[in-house]
Amino acid sequence: MRTVSFENGFKGWRNAARVLLAHKIEPNDLEWQERGANKTSALLWGNEEIDWQAMAATAPKMVMNVSRRWLEMAEAVSYHRNPEKWQLLYSLIWRLSYENPKLMNLSIDEQVQSFLSMEHGVRRDAHKAKAFVRFRKIENPEGDIYCAWHEPEHPLLPYVAPFFQDRFSVMKWTILTPDASVHWDGSALNWGPGCAQGEGPQNDSLEELWGCYYKSIFNPARVKIKAMKAEMPKKYWHTMPETKLIEELLFESDARVDAMIRAAPPSAESYIPDVKDLKTLKAALPLCEACDLCSKATQGVFGMGSPEASLMLVGEQPGDVEDQVGLPFQGPAGQVLNIALDAAGISRDDIYMTNSVKAFKFRPEGKRRIHEKPTPREVGTCKAWLKAELNAVRPQLVVCLGLTAALAVLGQSVRLMDVKGKVLEVGDNWKVIVTHHPSHILRIQDEGEKEAAMQELEASLKLARSLSGMGLILD
Ligand code: SF4
Repeated sequence: MRTVSFENGFKGWRNAARVLLAHKIEPNDLEWQERGANKTSALLWGNEEIDWQAMAATAPKMVMNVSRRWLEMAEAVSYHRNPEKWQLLYSLIWRLSYENPKLMNLSIDEQVQSFLSMEHGVRRDAHKAKAFVRFRKIENPEGDIYCAWHEPEHPLLPYVAPFFQDRFSVMKWTILTPDASVHWDGSALNWGPGCAQGEGPQNDSLEELWGCYYKSIFNPARVKIKAMKAEMPKKYWHTMPETKLIEELLFESDARVDAMIRAAPPSAESYIPDVKDLKTLKAALPLCEACDLCSKATQGVFGMGSPEASLMLVGEQPGDVEDQVGLPFQGPAGQVLNIALDAAGISRDDIYMTNSVKAFKFRPEGKRRIHEKPTPREVGTCKAWLKAELNAVRPQLVVCLGLTAALAVLGQSVRLMDVKGKVLEVGDNWKVIVTHHPSHILRIQDEGEKEAAMQELEASLKLARSLSGMGLILD
């Protein structure tokens, strides 16, 4: 038995695995050891240490026979607490490369089962970390720092830190866990050792803020204690100030349900057939009367494009031309979009395009119809149609063209300067990019600014193309 020693987590394992695979070193001959993670010295047990870095220079060229999806799943597995994970990953990649490229379809295979179960466990733990980490404010003369203590099941702080970096990029924050800590200073992530809960900050004014926040998002119409406990396990409750409010909120529940029903915006949901077939959905659109926008327009305009698209573009609403033609992105803004799509190497046939609101909202001025932005309430009313299209197409990535689309897709207002150029994760499987709407580019007067915005739109589409599995575009 020989020991493979590596550092730098999944990246380090991947580098070592690539060399050893190329040299056809079988999994059974190896014991994997991440430096710094396991204090047991392999050499103590008499193992010979394999110098894979020296072997890299003589490694025959080979392509790892695994998909990008498999590598993403393997990266998740690498954050599992089970130390056998590295051995398992190498065994699987060996078998996929040299024995059976379709191995992952064998659901009865024990190693495949372990891999899937570990990946699921880490993903679920990551989801909980993203949902239940609660920051507390620490006042500091050089700027407040927000600090949180969290106890995940797996040592996955490096896995979830980029999420917090994206979400809270303008704050300075620290997350402490028993395994590691990370501090975001506004420009870089700085890593440190783990710490016990008592070493983290205790009560402060943010407790109250979190309570208000929770109260405002708490939806009593959906109160299901069992589901709440499943989603928000009791073991996290002591780190979450808002859980103190749960009893009070449950008590007020009936009255709040009545008030919510009265205040809730209408939804198009009841007009939408329960199908995932775009043709049936499109045929049902003319029947929608959830708001008065479609009745004032020539027609409701449904999305168009490939039902299997991995990339979906979402705009604001149809314009004057689209309203008459009955298809999205046909007018002047559609022409700008065509130029950007061409530059990104994307064909309209390969993607799906739609709008947040399905009708052209306008005010008449003489013979002209002047575009009017839909209100957040109108976006909320029509959102059920967008949701139905998303569920039918199930794209890997959604590009929001403009802030109305971002509101519809993300469910919250964002500022373009905060999200531009970033890839936002929505839930576990969704990726979202927010960029300019082509009609906004058309309205920019300054030629330099117009050109810059156009370049940003093209760059967002290129990034979207590569992240949605449509292939990289080489400049
Ligand atoms: S704009 Fe949307 S919600 Fe309003 S009637 Fe048309 S399809 Fe229905």
